[in-house]
Amino acid sequence: MARSKQPLPAAVTTTSGFAAAEPGDVAQLVEDLDGMLSRLRLGAIREQLDGLLEEAARRQLNLREALAWLCAAEVASKEQRRLSMAMTIAHFPFVRTLEGFEFEAQPSIDPAKIRDLATCRWVANGDNVVLLGPPGVGKTHLEVALGREAVSRGYTVQFTTAMELLGSLVKGQQQGNLEMRLAQYSKPKLLVVDELGYLPLEPQAGHLFFQLISRRYEQGSVLISSNRPVEEWDEVFGDQVVAAAILDRLLHHSHVVTIRGDSYRLREKRRSGLFRPQTGGTSPPIPAKGG
Ligand code: ADP
Ligand code: MG
Repeated sequence: MARSKQPLPAAVTTTSGFAAAEPGDVAQLVEDLDGMLSRLRLGAIREQLDGLLEEAARRQLNLREALAWLCAAEVASKEQRRLSMAMTIAHFPFVRTLEGFEFEAQPSIDPAKIRDLATCRWVANGDNVVLLGPPGVGKTHLEVALGREAVSRGYTVQFTTAMELLGSLVKGQQQGNLEMRLAQYSKPKLLVVDELGYLPLEPQAGHLFFQLISRRYEQGSVLISSNRPVEEWDEVFGDQVVAAAILDRLLHHSHVVTIRGDSYRLREKRRSGLFRPQTGGTSPPIPAKGG
């Protein structure tokens, strides 16, 4: 039988038993320490034990302080694991952060507004965020950065593209498992839907998206980006009534961020001399509803 499966020695089953432990019993306990740490799932303490104990001794920590120090190492490691697992589940297409966002490059964005969104109060409230703007201005970057903030605050997040999401719902309708798919996309506290409006949608996509938005309404948040102003969403969904119903719910408790300006990608290329500087200045502004 493996040592870790053996019952713990009587010395640790009662405090009086421990007090009565012979020096020989303590030596046995120390020998069993690795197994006990495994059994208690204290993997970080087990792996770093020598280093942690040396450091505790060097700092002359008393027993209670040393125990707190060991527990802190375990908690930090478990939190790190939870975070990296949640980031994986969220399915972000790449790593982008708010620290990595150059606000000077996109003067139409109010940095204070984005920093306020980074507190994720809107996620706690079940509000939505709509990011509008032409290609390359940082919509996906901001979606990933805000999504990561939400994950690090403990919210469940799922990132998807409009094409992937609506393709899945259309398939669900065809295969008779729409309900399961709607439930799946309703689960995360924050659903990020990237790139609405880039590609033409199937005729029934608007109805299906409406069903999802209705289900999430005032429960979970949606962070959605589009290259088309909301006035054009009836064209995007191919149905004025459905588009109005979607926007009604989406914009009811929402923050709309409209980005005007040049593509960051092209700006980089222009800097490297690949393109000549634009003579016309910035791209045409995108009107937006809501505030
Ligand atoms: P969009 O989704 O609006 O088409 P992206 O977010 O994909 O644009 O941006 C294109 C690329 O440029 C990405 O690699 C992104 O990280 C980068 N980028 C865009 N805007 C900025 C910015 N203001 N600061 C730093 N990087 C940016
Ligand atoms: Mg994008």
